[in-house]
Amino acid sequence: MKSIPEPPDCQVPQSYLVGSVSSPAFAYFGVCPYAQTMSAYSLTHRTQVLFCLPCKRWSCRVCAEQKIKKLAHSVRAARPNRLLTLTVDPSLYVSPRHAWEETRKCVPILIRNLRKRFGEVEYLRVTEVTQNGWPHYHLLVRSGYIPHTVVRKAWNELTGARIEDLSKVTKSFKAYQYLVKYLSKLHKLEWTERHVSYSKGFIPKDPWVAPDPLDYAEESFHSYHPANFAAEHCVGSILFRLSEHCHLVLRKGDPQYVIASEASHIKRSVSSRS
Ligand SMILES: [Zn+2]
Repeated sequence: MKSIPEPPDCQVPQSYLVGSVSSPAFAYFGVCPYAQTMSAYSLTHRTQVLFCLPCKRWSCRVCAEQKIKKLAHSVRAARPNRLLTLTVDPSLYVSPRHAWEETRKCVPILIRNLRKRFGEVEYLRVTEVTQNGWPHYHLLVRSGYIPHTVVRKAWNELTGARIEDLSKVTKSFKAYQYLVKYLSKLHKLEWTERHVSYSKGFIPKDPWVAPDPLDYAEESFHSYHPANFAAEHCVGSILFRLSEHCHLVLRKGDPQYVIASEASHIKRSVSSRS
């Protein structure tokens, strides 16, 4: 008999008995409300699995928070040592969107030019807007010494903008906190979903890739939330959380169903006693 794996360390419910109403299932999944579903058959667990596919949009509060956390961790590993602010000159454009469309492509060009002269220049770009809605860019940069005047001249030639600021990141500067602070007050950008982008070499590659514990077959994709999928196709089954986005579907008669229902029963009686 296949044993059920140890639950991941998280606060969300470990298992859920599916009813025909989808709203409690949303609470169980506890992820992006716009998530879509992939269903598959797990050869390892010999049962159906549901994958929750989050929308990953900045405009989605849940996904934005996830992205911020993930990104902030990566940025800590990237060890930026300079902070570059690039502004735009509003008088040169008909609208903030126009300014963004024209200037955002100038950022990688600027970096490419600097790289030719100064060697390694890697960056992460955060798009911000001023109170009047005009874009400007904050770049977390990892590079050797670059003279201020060179950056100023290069950005001016590319965009016509005069002002920019390049400062060295001090030891007390916490890139992680900086990013979380900036992205958490997430302003809505009317014209783009791309609040952040970064150069290929900015974030160090993670040498360790987690092996997928499942080898699955018969994948099918559904453009609606797994909570709705479960309420439609899995009533009476127990959903068992394998990881944040992967859930076993255990049906009655399945030996794992008994284990999962007993486990949740034990949990219930323990919590009702306390
Ligand atoms: Zn989302």
